[in-house]
Amino acid sequence: MSKNQALFERAQRTIPGGVNSPVRAFRSVGGTPRFIERAEGAYFWDADGKRYIDYIGSWGPMILGHVHPEVLGAVQRVLANGFSFGAPTEAEIEIAEEICKLVPSIEQVRMVSSGTEATMSALRLARGFTNRSRIVKFEGCYHGHADSLLVKAGSGLLTFGNPTSAGVPADIAKHTTVLEYNNVEQLNEAFKAFGPEIASVIVEPVAGNMNLVRATPEFLNALRERCNEYGSVLIFDEVMCGFRVALGGAQQVYGIKPDLTCLGKVIGGGMPAAAFGGRRDIMAHLAPLGGVYQAGTLSGNPIAVAAGLKTLQLIQRPGFYDDLAKQTRKLVDGLTGAARDAKVPFSADSIGGMFGLYFMDSVPGSFAQIQQGDTRRFNAFFHAMLDAGVYFAPSAFEAGFVSSAHDDAIIDATIDAARGAFASLAA
Ligand SMILES: *Cc1c(COP(=O)(O)O)cnc(C)c1O
Repeated sequence: MSKNQALFERAQRTIPGGVNSPVRAFRSVGGTPRFIERAEGAYFWDADGKRYIDYIGSWGPMILGHVHPEVLGAVQRVLANGFSFGAPTEAEIEIAEEICKLVPSIEQVRMVSSGTEATMSALRLARGFTNRSRIVKFEGCYHGHADSLLVKAGSGLLTFGNPTSAGVPADIAKHTTVLEYNNVEQLNEAFKAFGPEIASVIVEPVAGNMNLVRATPEFLNALRERCNEYGSVLIFDEVMCGFRVALGGAQQVYGIKPDLTCLGKVIGGGMPAAAFGGRRDIMAHLAPLGGVYQAGTLSGNPIAVAAGLKTLQLIQRPGFYDDLAKQTRKLVDGLTGAARDAKVPFSADSIGGMFGLYFMDSVPGSFAQIQQGDTRRFNAFFHAMLDAGVYFAPSAFEAGFVSSAHDDAIIDATIDAARGAFASLAA
């Protein structure tokens, strides 16, 4: 038995499903999850000593590659000073200043420890600020696992949302309206029907949790306009796309200012750090200044802040995002070419250091279109690539990530491996 298999069997005795986050369990692709022992640059190694080119990068954070020497140094320098104090530190001011500088719509920011906490807190703040309850989200967008957000559309626009998880009371789900991504008409209808009740609209301005789906500029502009008209708080959940599609996030790419922004993943550099921030007049409603309660024992943790701050400094190197986008484009173009040569229906897209692979003829624009992909083919491709030492996300409904450590040789090796994988699918 492989060591991965032995570990998976052992893990399942004391950990539900053997994993601490569901997608790691390989349920949708089948097979045995790889237990990772160490990583460096664009690679990680599993318990059997097999090396993989890593295209998940911890699901986004590892934009500089694993164990970047300067990030490691920054963490090592603060470790000996203490792990957590429960009292403020100067480094927290530095990371707040850095975030406000890089994302100009953020005038004030609060650190938390996960993206889930960021979105949950931002929504509570939006509700406290507007004195309204209803929130609007979009099908296929993931905003962490807070109760209000584990909701799918009801049978019609005016019907209540339904929980997507056991344990979420219908009484909570009913305050969430779920609309179609990129559907301006439906958005306008919803605002016409109950605009004055909408506390907040939360959206991934580049969606990365139903695979990669770009918002259209018309859609995001309509969101901004309707929120302005009705006094609703527009929240961009940039936990994934922030510092990933561009230095200033998707809001820089689209030129749209949300009222609040949620950040995570890259801002922790691989450590548990996330944040939410935005308009000063809204942020002033947070405790201890205002009546909206929010807190965290490990919020702004000095080790996490050191890793995050150094990461934010390093990604400001001139040309960083041009290079990252070029490498990512090279990967998706190479994969598309390899699929075409093998006559496998396939398309791909990338923005900055984020990419999507689709087993269908054209790039999808909604959750419904994503559903039309050939998941059986994706799963076969995933396993063929895994055997060849390339680790893509173990689900057809996840985006992929390239880091600055993915050099030409690594991208070329990936495309070579893909030629074999696509050929085996076509056979
Ligand atoms: C990952 C993610 C979250 C949740 O972040 P966690 O740190 O896993 O809680 C929220 N929103 C988006 C867009 C994400 O990609």
